[in-house]
Amino acid sequence: MASWRENIRQVEPYVPGEQPKAADVIKLNTNENPYGPSPRVRALNLDRNLLRLYPDPTAATLVEKLAEYHHVKPEQVFVGVGSDDVLAMAFLTYFNSEKPILFPDITYSFYDVWAQLYKIPYERPALNHDFRLVKEDYYRENGGIVFPNPNAPTGIYEPLETIEEILRRNPDSIVIIDEAYIDFGGTSALTILDQYENLVVVRTFSKSRSMAGLRIGYAISSPELIAALNNVKYSYNSYTMNLPSIMLGAESIQDEEYFQSTVGKVVATREWFVKALDELGFTCLPSSANFVFATHSCIPAKEIFEAAKKRGIYVRYFDLPRIDHYLRISIGTDEDMRRFVEFLREYIGHASQE
Ligand code: PMP
Repeated sequence: MASWRENIRQVEPYVPGEQPKAADVIKLNTNENPYGPSPRVRALNLDRNLLRLYPDPTAATLVEKLAEYHHVKPEQVFVGVGSDDVLAMAFLTYFNSEKPILFPDITYSFYDVWAQLYKIPYERPALNHDFRLVKEDYYRENGGIVFPNPNAPTGIYEPLETIEEILRRNPDSIVIIDEAYIDFGGTSALTILDQYENLVVVRTFSKSRSMAGLRIGYAISSPELIAALNNVKYSYNSYTMNLPSIMLGAESIQDEEYFQSTVGKVVATREWFVKALDELGFTCLPSSANFVFATHSCIPAKEIFEAAKKRGIYVRYFDLPRIDHYLRISIGTDEDMRRFVEFLREYIGHASQE
């Protein structure tokens, strides 16, 4: 075998949820938001002349709007191509020691992929029986800490006191809180940003702002940590953010009313849906996100997943230890969820007669 083969970087890539092509499916598998972006985003006409030019590498229009919105300085905001890009940059920038970084055994499955890609050693302390974070597991030497709050795919929110305790016990590590789902429940760690110089908060426009297709994510931290992130970005690709994303992202930030009303609708649908699942014999973990993680008392999750797919309803199933009897179901419109519940009622009725 030629030796160049030995020099190729070998990675086991992250597997995103399916994006089915058919138009008439009910898509509850990738935590998208059913309502679409603000009308302000939809109304914006991009000047063709602008598209001819390279975008502003600093994405200042969007950075400034985000800084204003979150009451921080523009030097405290970093934007990227979805929070996946921001997190990948953050791993590359901040997790640069020989010590293992820490994240839970059940969490966003991209973390171990980035750790492997960048050859960062890592350990995954187990969540407890109730899928809650055990904060004491993070009181040991490490090269950094990262977890989502609310967690994915559980949807469970950990109170800020837990996060503060972890931050206090780790003054020598950078702690990244991935707040992809925070707008659907819980208090943001941004409220304690001023008190901890080792805290980085990462957010996305993909869920609560319903703009997954535009790929916009951001990090907020101290000017020092944001400058480090920018230095890595400019050593890799100056123009990560395309011009439409910068312009349309800035528009979205200016429509608070639409944002609040659509987030409110998703939360109300989630509460109704959890009750409906409960009546059908499911147990749902307490969700603060735009999805629920549910297990049925007698029917295996994989069977429900496959049967639903045959009927054009896509949910997410992870064939992984500890969670292989759960389904992660994104919250769609009331009509989407009503049709899913109808399918379940019928399916469970048949399955229990067999
Ligand atoms: N973090 C978590 C916990 C997620 O579930 C996701 C969605 N897959 C992301 C980050 C990335 O989202 P995006 O790149 O669309 O911002």
